[in-house]
Amino acid sequence: MPLLRQSLKPWRRSCNLILLKHRHCLHIRRASRLSCHCPCYLLSRHSHMADVVSSEVRSRMMAGIRNRNTKPELLLRRLLHKKGFRYRLHSGSVPGHPDMVFPKHGAVLFAHGCFWHGHHCHLFRWPTTRSEFWKEKIGRNRARDVIVRRQLKKSGWRVLTVWECALKGRARISTNDLVKRCASWLRSTRAIGEIEGKTL
Ligand SMILES: [Zn+2]
Repeated sequence: MPLLRQSLKPWRRSCNLILLKHRHCLHIRRASRLSCHCPCYLLSRHSHMADVVSSEVRSRMMAGIRNRNTKPELLLRRLLHKKGFRYRLHSGSVPGHPDMVFPKHGAVLFAHGCFWHGHHCHLFRWPTTRSEFWKEKIGRNRARDVIVRRQLKKSGWRVLTVWECALKGRARISTNDLVKRCASWLRSTRAIGEIEGKTL
């Protein structure tokens, strides 16, 4: 193994750049913890392909991405808590397991990833490989969102959706603004609310 490790050294710099780009990818993160399976090695093996990884690996990588507990989401939680809002996280007893449940306000909040829920914004682009698979998967997610919203409404919950593009990327809105808008909706009696990134 020392021989392998030694031969990996020249790759480390470019690999770090790729890691930065794919910092949400659990597959790479997991791999980086194993000294004998350095991500430089994984990526360099596939560097002759149009994509950095094969479609099977890409699929596993995409499946490993979770949008829960992301940095902006944690910040939003902290700021709402600071404003005095109390909530439960990922409650299993509420339809759709919302990211935040505000019992006092009869409201739930979903922090939706723009890719996974097919949002009409700059963060969403149809993958060019396995397009049928992704169309079906994202279509299923969107259909489930509609059903969950209907179930929540029936059970008397109000629903706020905060899109990922409002939290990060070039269309994001300021944290102050975001918290203000969330707080104002939570205190209102509006049944449905949606906060998305600025129009570019
Ligand atoms: Zn979006």
